[in-house]
Amino acid sequence: MPVYSHSQLSTYEQCPLKYKLSYRDRIKRESESVEAFLGNMVHDTLRKCYDDICFTRLNTLDQLLSCYENFWEQRWHDGVAIARADLTRDHFRTLGRRMIETYYRRYAPFDSDVTLGTEVRLSFSLDGDDRYRFSGYIDRLSCTPDGCHRIHDYKTSSHLPSQQEIDSDRQLGLYLIGVRKMWPDVRDIRLIWHYLAFDRELESTRSPEAIEALLEDTARLVDEIEACKSFEPRESALCGWCEFPDLCPMRKHFVTVAELPANDYLGEPGVALVNRFAELKEDSARLDAEIAQVREALINYAVRENVQIIRGSSRKVRVKIEKKLKFPGKNDEGREELDGIVKEAGKWMEVSLLDTSSLVKAVDAGRWERSLLNQVLQYGRLEEASTVSLSRLKEEN
Ligand code: SF4
Repeated sequence: MPVYSHSQLSTYEQCPLKYKLSYRDRIKRESESVEAFLGNMVHDTLRKCYDDICFTRLNTLDQLLSCYENFWEQRWHDGVAIARADLTRDHFRTLGRRMIETYYRRYAPFDSDVTLGTEVRLSFSLDGDDRYRFSGYIDRLSCTPDGCHRIHDYKTSSHLPSQQEIDSDRQLGLYLIGVRKMWPDVRDIRLIWHYLAFDRELESTRSPEAIEALLEDTARLVDEIEACKSFEPRESALCGWCEFPDLCPMRKHFVTVAELPANDYLGEPGVALVNRFAELKEDSARLDAEIAQVREALINYAVRENVQIIRGSSRKVRVKIEKKLKFPGKNDEGREELDGIVKEAGKWMEVSLLDTSSLVKAVDAGRWERSLLNQVLQYGRLEEASTVSLSRLKEEN
């Protein structure tokens, strides 16, 4: 029975190819981003803080910071990658240190609730039939004196989400479902996010309707992943942090040319073709602009001189000026009313056509029932289409 975690689901949403390489092909990489490394060091330090409290040992801030420094030194390895050229290893180490300091000052002596466990494992069925399971680890589960259970999650990211974002956060929503399933007598459960870089605590909970909707949405996403065959790459700003650029058709060529000596770079066939293509495109853009100017001048000349054909040395130009009736386009103002008038008059079938690009989208999204899809697909055929588009390289590339 397939088991999914929050990071599997979000990796698939970020990029299906990255998901396949990580979780289906199980390709292991030595490298990890410095942000992930920092997150692990901070999580492990806070875990130690609460685990020690369970054994009635309250660490001082200095003790906790030296524990953090030890983790950092002992576990740092050559595969930790710093994607941002303007930041150093020390920048991230100090950042983590500051997170521990502010957290400690805010919560010491850590007695507002009782820790029931750190890294608490959850595993439960996402649907009634036990077709898929969800598993995850709660950073810290605690209980307040009035019996409220609190699911804590430490975040070291540099983005502080809005209340709306955390109210619809999938990860802790699923953890709440897991806690309810494991301990059905628990009544009040709060979700707490600690955004350590901002010294902010965000809180949310979930209504029974929200839980129902979350389970349905998650099961739907898992169905989509299970049915996925192509696992296409999805390029985004997060590609700079991906461990698989050498296996990805979107980034492989970057890796190939990055390894070339500077004097071989321009001779590499791909680089040479792109450079030539860019030159030609620039010329054609200049020519297009010039053609548009001359075209405008020809129209003005024809109007001014009241002629329709203008003679050149070996060619002639015909200028035809006519008025054509135009109706609002698909998304233009007035289109809905126009459609309504034609439909009401019973003339819709005379003037409407099947929108085949909308049909392709509906088939791709699998929105229709299988029998109808099969019927429609009998009339479709797969054609190979190529597009070649040119764009500027961004700074980080
Ligand atoms: S580099 Fe980007 S597109 Fe390629 S696999 Fe990684 S995340 Fe996906």
